Amino acid sequence: MDFFEKFGEKFDSFLSSKVKKSKNRVLVKLQKHIKENWSQGIVISSKGKNYVVEFNENGQRKLTECMLSGTVEVKHQHRTLITVGDIVFFVAPQLGTDGKEFGRIVYVADRPSFLMRKSILGNHEDIIASNMQQVMIMFSAMHPQYNLRMLDRILVAVEYGNLETIICINKIDLVDLNLLKKDFQIYEDLGYKVLYISAKEGIALNAVEESLGGKSTLLTGVSGVGKSTLINKLLGMDIQKVDDITRSRRGKHTTTSSRLFHKGEDAIIVDSPGFREFEVWGVPKEELQFYFRDFEPFFQKCKFQPCSHTHEPKCAVKSAVLRGKISHERYISYVSLFESL
Ligand code: GDP
Ligand code: ZN
Repeated sequence: MDFFEKFGEKFDSFLSSKVKKSKNRVLVKLQKHIKENWSQGIVISSKGKNYVVEFNENGQRKLTECMLSGTVEVKHQHRTLITVGDIVFFVAPQLGTDGKEFGRIVYVADRPSFLMRKSILGNHEDIIASNMQQVMIMFSAMHPQYNLRMLDRILVAVEYGNLETIICINKIDLVDLNLLKKDFQIYEDLGYKVLYISAKEGIALNAVEESLGGKSTLLTGVSGVGKSTLINKLLGMDIQKVDDITRSRRGKHTTTSSRLFHKGEDAIIVDSPGFREFEVWGVPKEELQFYFRDFEPFFQKCKFQPCSHTHEPKCAVKSAVLRGKISHERYISYVSLFESL
């Protein structure tokens, strides 16, 4: 299957908006640039300063390690030049003067979708992965307990990055499910899909499989929520054994970069390193309101336009909060995010 086809409708609509519709529309558009010795691939992980690129040769998936070429054509607008999920063109490995063989990435395609956050190590962007159709945001019912404020921040990043959402709550074996569901009812009411599972006990894993089938999904979550347990069950293998791992000072295994896996013929799962904090990055302050879907029926009715929905009088959003049409908690999330941007 062609790499571009795997990304489904989102990639199609992105491409068709820019190029002629034809079966070979990607190549039609790129013919001007593409040189005969360029191959198309997808970045599946990073390895130090290099990247592992998967490509298709005679219907077979192959891997090659690539470095970034000295001149590279980059079609996206981000600072992060390459991330897992990127569609790239590369020149096949040639033996260098140092005796090492690496392919060279010469072209990075635009990103119809991405998950961006503030880097942990400073004030800049970190793109966890690109070109996925959906993000599965994983939390656990306990140990560690979910954080709805953080969920709201991740949801903003997900909506900003043009991704669909699945909220997945793990470790339901540890709590009263009805009480747990009450906390997430508001997200279900907003149209988000919420799954309640136990990766360890094998509860509702079929619902997860169903949600991932035929799609490309980025799996993200706080460390300790059970992401590795779930991925190992889904893929039927111990990913820590096949993944690049490092031993942190505490002696716990942690993945260092996102990594793309295939599940069967038609599903793609990107596992990303567990984090402790998630901060939004790149969203312009005045756009924040667009990523709170519960504000949508109201924000155009505010007296002042534009309205930040914080201090202005006759604000339809604030009035909706007072009337219980928008959850108070969601509004607090909005205000604290607004102040942080
Ligand atoms: P990760 O950091 O998100 O990859 O989390 P792990 O998969 O390493 O799991 C963290 C801990 O939670 C481990 O001790 C798991 O055995 C445990 N765990 C994972 N899933 C479940 C679950 O469904 N129920 C319970 N009770 N524990 C779980
Ligand atoms: Zn307002």
